[in-house]
Amino acid sequence: MSTPHHYRIASIPADGIGIEVVSAAIEVVEKLSKVLGVFTIEFTHIPWGTEYYKQNGRYVSADVLDTLRGYDASLFGSVGAPDVPDHISLWGLLLAIRGPLQLYANVRPVRVFPGTTPYLRGAEAKDIDWLLVRENSEGEYAGHGGTSHIDQPWETATEVAIFTRVGIERIMRFAFEAAQRRPRKLLTVVTKSNSMRNGLVLWDKIAAEVSKDFPDVKWDKMLVDAMTIRMVTNPKSLDTIVGTNLHMDILSDLAAALAGSIGIAPSSNLDPTRKNPSLFEPVHGSAFDITGKGIANPIATFWSAAEMLDWLGEPGAAKYLITALENVCAAGITTPDLGGNSTTKGVTDAVIKEIEKLH
Ligand code: ATP
Ligand code: MG
Repeated sequence: MSTPHHYRIASIPADGIGIEVVSAAIEVVEKLSKVLGVFTIEFTHIPWGTEYYKQNGRYVSADVLDTLRGYDASLFGSVGAPDVPDHISLWGLLLAIRGPLQLYANVRPVRVFPGTTPYLRGAEAKDIDWLLVRENSEGEYAGHGGTSHIDQPWETATEVAIFTRVGIERIMRFAFEAAQRRPRKLLTVVTKSNSMRNGLVLWDKIAAEVSKDFPDVKWDKMLVDAMTIRMVTNPKSLDTIVGTNLHMDILSDLAAALAGSIGIAPSSNLDPTRKNPSLFEPVHGSAFDITGKGIANPIATFWSAAEMLDWLGEPGAAKYLITALENVCAAGITTPDLGGNSTTKGVTDAVIKEIEKLH
């Protein structure tokens, strides 16, 4: 028998319900490793987050990038606290990692789990099975801009969106490849190139160029406003979707809600070149309204952990975990956001039982 692969994971639970769902995910993945016996995994706790910020004046340690490069991947919870402005916490932690590590592809699968009710009623909504690809390194969240004339009546701020050929081309290629691997081979490119006449016209141009290398992928273009309508009224017409940092940030929350709850939505922040370790996290934030109540849905983080295992080279284990999640949802063991009356612990225990049963 060959030696099982060993993975070293940085665990960064950070704030709010992030702490609750990451510890649940570690429990589940450790169980999966034990039951399957095909890989071993070691989580190292990294204490970055708002508490760390209050003690050290910064969200992450100075050697943040070197620290993360010592691991195969990171599993992240969520950042943000009621007493720190959101832009401080977000830039302090998550955006301090995504950009410098060039985790330029943010991938968010969206589908309806058995037993959960999509927000959209009817047969079509049940067929939601999308792969959202978000450009994760530039665009509207490039952080370029500034404020002048502070506190004057003419106070002015600029927020400059940066679009580069290199940045667009690599995410476009990633999206076409992702679409090509899926059965329907269908890609929708989202822009707003009627109003944004520079950066998003470049998106359109590069989409057309890259498409030539993928003759078997059927693709179309949508303006982001019209796209919100299409997602609600004709969800079945969509499969893989690619767009800018801001547009996909918004569309992926819409997608998650349509499919049932943001509490099940996973995301991967990938460096497709594999030079740097990728980071996996639930789409949701720290949700302080439910922190400490024990009712946070851990499925988004479990699913993110499954995406992590798949990325690390354990697709069998990932599939196993997803099947366990589906079975637990189908059995009606869900948290209140999905209409159930179970708890984080209740769902976690049920997933662990499923894992034991499956093998
Ligand atoms: P951020 O500002 O980082 O987006 P947030 O704290 O504003 O985060 P979200 O996490 O985006 O809030 O979530 C919005 C609402 O959805 C929360 O207030 C919460 O009630 C609900 N929610 C989010 N995640 C979960 C979850 N895992 N389980 C149950 N409910 C959730
Ligand atoms: Mg939010």
